[in-house]
Amino acid sequence: MDALPPTATDVLISIDPADGSEVARVPCTTRAELDSMVDRAWHAWRTSGWKSLLPHRRAAVLHEIASRIAAEKESLAQLQMRDNGKPLAECRAMAESAVGTFRYYAGVCETLETEVTPPRSDYVSFTVLEPFGVVACITPWNSPLMNDATKVAPALAAGNAVLLKPSEDSPLLAPELARICREAGLPEGLLQVVQGRGADIGAALVAHPGVRMISFTGGTATGRAIGEVAGRRLVPAALELGGKSPHAVFADADLDHAVAAVVAGIFGSAGQSCVAGSRLFVEASIYDEVVGRVVERARTLRLRLPSDPAVEVGPLASFHHRERVIRFVENARAEGGRILCGGAVPTGGIYDKGAFYLPTVIDGLSYKARACQEEAFGPVLVALPFQDEADLIEQGNGTAFGLACGIWTKSFKRAWRVGRALEAGSVWINTYKMSVTTTPFGGFKDSGLGREKGIDGLRLYAQVKSMYFGL
Ligand code: NAD
Repeated sequence: MDALPPTATDVLISIDPADGSEVARVPCTTRAELDSMVDRAWHAWRTSGWKSLLPHRRAAVLHEIASRIAAEKESLAQLQMRDNGKPLAECRAMAESAVGTFRYYAGVCETLETEVTPPRSDYVSFTVLEPFGVVACITPWNSPLMNDATKVAPALAAGNAVLLKPSEDSPLLAPELARICREAGLPEGLLQVVQGRGADIGAALVAHPGVRMISFTGGTATGRAIGEVAGRRLVPAALELGGKSPHAVFADADLDHAVAAVVAGIFGSAGQSCVAGSRLFVEASIYDEVVGRVVERARTLRLRLPSDPAVEVGPLASFHHRERVIRFVENARAEGGRILCGGAVPTGGIYDKGAFYLPTVIDGLSYKARACQEEAFGPVLVALPFQDEADLIEQGNGTAFGLACGIWTKSFKRAWRVGRALEAGSVWINTYKMSVTTTPFGGFKDSGLGREKGIDGLRLYAQVKSMYFGL
C-alpha cells in the first residue's frame, strides 16, 4: 500500500440496484486535491476555534445538525434507497438513527467529565481530552448515512476536523451530510468528503502524513491492511469489521419469537449487515422443526422493490456484490451443502432488472466449511445442529470472527453462561440486532478493534493529556 500509482481523475457512477438505472456521477478526489483537503482541514482546525469552543457551543451545532437531518429525513432516505437499494422504511430508520447519534454526542460533549486526583501535599493532577486534529473516517456501503454519523458526530464532538471517505459503491450520502453540517454552522473545512476507490484514494488517505487517526468500518481484509499502515505510521486505527454471527436456539426457547428473529436477523437488509445472524445453531431435538419453519418463512418473504411499502427483502446493493453472493452459494453447493431454499437469482418482471437474490438457507455442512467461516454479506443462512452447550460454544466460537451472537432460551442461567462463553462484542438474549447509541459496539477477534457508540465512541477520537499543578 505504500507505493501507489498516481490517480487519474475519474468518476464514480451510482447505479440504482433496484433497476440498474444511473442515479448520479461523482468525481473522484485526486491526490493533489487530497493534499489540499488535508491542508485545509488543518487550517480550519487551527483557526476556527472549534476545538476550544465551550462544549455547550459545540453541542449547539451538533443539535442543529441533528434537527436539519430530521427535517430532511425523507429526501435523505429516498436518496439512500436509490444509492444502495435498501427498503425505504429501513432508510428512514437509518436517518432517524443519524439524528439520534448527533443528539447523543451533543449531550456527551457537554457532560463528559475527566479524572481529577485529589490534591496531594504539593500537587494536584487531572486529565483533559484533546482532539487529534485531522482524522480520517472511512465507511462501507451498507448503511452509509448511519455509518457516517456514527463516526462524524463523535469525531466532531471531540473537537477534530474530519475527512470522510464513503464507499465508492454508495457515494451520495456523505456530501449531503457535509452540506447539512455546513448549513448548521460547522466551520468551513471541518468536514470534507473524499470520494473514490478504496485501493486508490482510500489507501492514500490512510497513508497521508497529515492524518493523525483513522476510523474504519468495512471488511476484515481491508481493516487488516489499514491496521498495518497505521501501525507503521504509529497512528491509532479504530476498526469495525466483518462478522459471521451465530444465532442459537435452545429447545426451551419461545420458538415463535426465535424463528421470527432468526429470519429478520439474516434476511433484514438482504443480509447486508455486519451483525447478520448468518449461522443458525439449533439444539438437535428441535432442529428439523425450527429449520423447517425458517425455510417456510424464507420462501414467502416478499422480495420486492425497495420503494414498495410491502417489501420485506429488497435487492442487493450492487450487481457486482450479487456476483459475490452467487459465488458464495456455488461454493457452498460444491462443498456439499444442501440448498433448502433459494440459491438462485429470481427471474421475471422486476427481477430481470434489479440485483435481486432469493433468500437462501443451506445445511448439511460442517462448521469448518468455508460457507460457515466466510462472510456472505447477503441473504444466505447456514443452519447447523448442536448437541449441548459445550458443542454450541465450540462451533459458535469456531470462526475467526467475533462481532455478535444471539441466544434464545428461557433459562436465565444458561443465557448468562453461554453469553459469557461466546466470543462476541455484542450478545443478544431473546432479542436480536438491537442497537442503541448509548451502548458500545465493536468486535472481538477478526471483527475489529475499539468500540463505537457510547462514551467509548467519543474517546476513540480523543487523546488523554495529564496535567500536574504544583501547589
Ligand atoms: P470494504 O472493506 O471493501 O470497504 C470499506 C471502505 O473502505 C470503503 O469506503 C472502501 O472504499 C474503503 N477501502 C477499501 N480498501 C481500502 C484501503 N486499502 N485503504 C483505505 N480504504 C479502503 O468493505 P465494504 O464491502 O464496503 O463493506 C462490507 C464490509 O463491511 C463487510 O465485511 C461488513 O461486515 C463490514 N461492516 C462492518 C460493520 C461494523 O460495524 N463492524 C458495519 C458495516 C459493515
